Amino acid sequence: MSGVSVVPQETVREAFKLAFSKWSQVSPFTFKETRGYSDIAIGFYSGEHGDGVTFNNTIVAHAYPPIDGRLHVNADKGWSIKDPIQEDKNIHRGDTYDLVWVAMHEIGHILGLDHSNDEDAIMYPFIAPLKNKRAFVVDDVTGIQELYSLGVQRDFHYPSAMGFRLQSYHLLIVAIFCLWVMYIFLSVMLSVFLD
Ligand SMILES: [Zn+2]
Ligand SMILES: [Zn+2]
Repeated sequence: MSGVSVVPQETVREAFKLAFSKWSQVSPFTFKETRGYSDIAIGFYSGEHGDGVTFNNTIVAHAYPPIDGRLHVNADKGWSIKDPIQEDKNIHRGDTYDLVWVAMHEIGHILGLDHSNDEDAIMYPFIAPLKNKRAFVVDDVTGIQELYSLGVQRDFHYPSAMGFRLQSYHLLIVAIFCLWVMYIFLSVMLSVFLD
């Protein structure tokens, strides 16, 4: 974590821990906090912050997809991790957002996902203040699973491979049985002719 300090580090940690765990449930990824080299670097920044993107009123956060991994949150917005957010007694401004929602969205970008047209999706590009959104919809899940060849495709491949194995096993039994019948037949024939 880097940048300016607007939200207590423990709060940020809790929000991102929850957001990462949600992505772990639907993807092959696991995430671990580290102090040294990291694939994902999270920080709060204000205005122009040296990467060509200027935080203004309309951008609450942004992230760079693989292999970059930088995740920047707008330090000039209000942030909360309460669910429901309206019950957060520390909110003193209208432009306060659910940090878990934003974390989930930006992690989605870091994992390689683009925006969704589904208004209920975590990957929908617009966020509402003083509201929570922490549940994936089908579009988010199929998005990540198609990207990393999981889910539907995996369920499809395994049964068909097993079916093939069962069939070839079955064919082997049939072949052995045929050979045995031929052996009996030939030995009978031979015994007939040789007798
Ligand atoms: Zn930035
Ligand atoms: Zn986005």
